[in-house]
Amino acid sequence: MIVFSKVADVQSRITELKRKYKTIGFIPTMGALHKGHVSLMKKAMMENDITVVSIFVNPAQFGPKEDFAHYPRPFDADCALLSEVGIQCLFHPSADDIYPNGFENATQVYVPNLSTLWCGKTRPQLFGGVCSVVCRLLNIVSPTKAYFGQKDFQQLVLIQRMVKDLHMPVQIISGDTIREIDGLACSSRNAYLTEAERKIAPALHKALQDCDKLFKSGVTNTPEILAKAKETHLNNTPIQLDYFTIVDPDTLAEVPIARKGCRVLIAGYLGTTRLIDNLGLGAIQK
Ligand code: AMP
Repeated sequence: MIVFSKVADVQSRITELKRKYKTIGFIPTMGALHKGHVSLMKKAMMENDITVVSIFVNPAQFGPKEDFAHYPRPFDADCALLSEVGIQCLFHPSADDIYPNGFENATQVYVPNLSTLWCGKTRPQLFGGVCSVVCRLLNIVSPTKAYFGQKDFQQLVLIQRMVKDLHMPVQIISGDTIREIDGLACSSRNAYLTEAERKIAPALHKALQDCDKLFKSGVTNTPEILAKAKETHLNNTPIQLDYFTIVDPDTLAEVPIARKGCRVLIAGYLGTTRLIDNLGLGAIQK
């Protein structure tokens, strides 16, 4: 695996590959890699000649009181995992490479409306930071296809919108949410959970599954579905809900009556750890 830290170096490698008509798959990550990232890598490797992964903990998407400083950065373990998976190319830039004049002075990319809902309400800096960095990374790597997890459903919808609005010549591919055996969605932030919290955390997924079960049994009234799932799985836990909702999968607006394909979104705090998850309604569960 070749590790590129400079924008110009990765760009000249990509230019070389494109001259040979190679297709390029790209997975942007913040590192602390887990099974969710690996499933995106495997999908990309199946569908492209070359797969590029980036590791960049993007300061621009963290609020002042958030976990930027503490975000896990196990770089050596990540490199070992990437090599084991068979990734040929890692892009690992510094913040100065991505924002040479500092983020405050940098051109920013912002998707209106979608950015202010749900996670964007609680974390106002999040999606401006995400879109600003993903736009840059897509411009630098210029992949044929870029891969994003459904685990971060709002992010996926935003990036699809950004790419469409800016006429960016890349195909956005989504990957299924990968879970631990007890249903907890894999996340780099799960490492923050204490042993006791880790046992409670799967309640989020159980609540989502219950919503789907209720929907499949014929209950379609959104407040009723959410109240029942909350009562059964969340009320007696220390999870502090941020939001729990059923939304249209394109606009992310809450729907009063749930339909097949609508998305249940949930976010909450367990101790100081913020966890998010989501599920499509009416799909065949794997
Ligand atoms: P992150 O490193 O958390 O920024 O995530 C990088 C990419 O991996 C994003 O597209 C995420 O949506 C995706 N991802 C993170 N966790 C999972 C998961 N459990 N299953 C599938 N994809 C995931």
